[in-house]
Amino acid sequence: MSASALTGMSALVVDDEEFMLDFLCMAVEKSGVGNVVSATSGVEALDQVEDRQQVFDIIVCDLQMPGMDGIEVIRQLANDGFSGGIILVSGKDKRVLKTAENMAEVRGLKVIGSLCKPMPVHEIISLMNKYAVAEQHASWAISNVTANELDAAIRSGEITVNYQPQVDSKTGVVKSVETLARWFHPERGMITPDIFIDIAERHDLIDALAESIIMQATQQGSIWHKQGIDLSVAINISLYNLRHLDFPDRITDIVNQAGMDIKKLVIEITESRLVQDLGTYLDILSRLRLKGPLLSIDDFGTGYVSMDHLKQMPFGELKIDRAFVNGAYKDDTARAILQSSVSLAKQLEMTVVAKGVEVKEDWDLVSELGCDMVQGYYIAPPMDVETFDAWLLNRCK
Ligand code: C2E
Ligand code: CA
Repeated sequence: MSASALTGMSALVVDDEEFMLDFLCMAVEKSGVGNVVSATSGVEALDQVEDRQQVFDIIVCDLQMPGMDGIEVIRQLANDGFSGGIILVSGKDKRVLKTAENMAEVRGLKVIGSLCKPMPVHEIISLMNKYAVAEQHASWAISNVTANELDAAIRSGEITVNYQPQVDSKTGVVKSVETLARWFHPERGMITPDIFIDIAERHDLIDALAESIIMQATQQGSIWHKQGIDLSVAINISLYNLRHLDFPDRITDIVNQAGMDIKKLVIEITESRLVQDLGTYLDILSRLRLKGPLLSIDDFGTGYVSMDHLKQMPFGELKIDRAFVNGAYKDDTARAILQSSVSLAKQLEMTVVAKGVEVKEDWDLVSELGCDMVQGYYIAPPMDVETFDAWLLNRCK
C-alpha cells in the first residue's frame, strides 16, 4: 500500500556534503519514491521549489550548510506555504533537531521526522513508509468527506464523544475526563478528529460542532453528578470558536440547560495556536474564566508561550504535550523540558497534567517531578460512556 503511494511522489534532497547527498538520495530511492532530485545548497533547493516545474511531496534537508542553512530554508518554505512533508537531518546533537522540528511545526509545516547522521538506510525507509500511509489515510478521508456530509453528521448526532480519564498522580483517584469527538461514519467507519476538525474549521462548521460536543459532555457531566460521581469534564475548543464575543454566554447557556455545575467544566485550548494572536483572545478568555470554568492550556511545550504571557492569561491548568512525557525517562532533552514546564506551572500556581503516559516508567517520572494529574494509555484509552462507566466501577472496587 505505502510503496505504491511513494512511487507517485517526488522528493528533494538537500545536503552540502557530496557523500551524504548521494547516500540520502539512494535511501530515498530505495524507499520507493518515484522521483528524487538533489540540491547542494539551501539557495539551490529553494530555486528548485520555486521553479514550480515540479511539485515536491517530500523535502529531506540538512540543517548545517554553508551560506543559507537548513533553518533558513524551513523558514522560507513556511512563508511559501509548502504543503509537503519535511525530514530534517543533522550531524549535531538531537537538541538542535528537536528545536528545528518544533520551529517547523509551529510555522505550520508537516514534519515527517528527523534523522541524526550517520543513519542506517532502514531508518529513512521506515520514515518514508510511515508518511506514505498517513498521507494516504488523510487524503483518502479528506477527498471522501465533504463539508455537507460533516454538516449533516453534526445535525443528526453522528458525531459522538469518548471520555478519557485523568487521575491524581498521588492517589490514583479519577478526577476528571477529557471529552474527545468521534465520527462513526455509516460506510467509512471511524473518522478521527484530526481530519474532521480541520474540515469544520475551514467550512464554518466549528461552532455547530463545538455546541454539539459541549451539549453531550455537559449532559453526561450532569448525569454523573446525579449519580454521586464527582468528575470534572474537559472539552477541547478551537481558536475559531473564540472569534465570537458571545461565546462565553453561549457556553454558559448550554451548561445551565444541562444542569451541570460550570465550575466542573474545563476548557482546553492548544498552546501553539494561541500565540499567533494573543491580544485578541485575552478579552474573550478573561470573560470565559469569569463565568466559572477552569481554562487549560493544552499541548504545552509545542508553542512559544512565555512566562510573561502565561502570567497575563487566566489559565489554571497546564497540560504538557506527550512529546515531552512519553519516553522522557530515556530522553534527557524531553525530561529537561518536562521538568522546566512543571516548575513554570508551579510558580504560577497552575495544576499540571502529564499527557501521553503510556508505560510505568512514564508514570514514575511524572509523579516524581510533581505533575498533579496523569492521562494516557497506561491508565486507560478514550472510551464510550458505557465502557467508561464499567471501567470506573471496576477501578473503584
Ligand atoms: P488532544 O487534545 O491532544 O487529545 C489527546 C489525543 O491523544 C487524543 O487523540 C487521544 O486519543 C490521544 N491519546 C490519549 N492518550 C494517549 C497516549 O497515551 N498515547 C498516545 N500516543 N495518544 C494518546 P484524538 O482523540 O485522536 O484527538 C486528537 C485531537 O483532536 C485532540 O488532541 C484535540 O486537539 C482534537 N479534538 C478532539 N476532540 C475535539 C473536539 O471536540 N473539538 C476540538 N476543537 N478538537 C477536538
Ligand atoms: Ca486536549
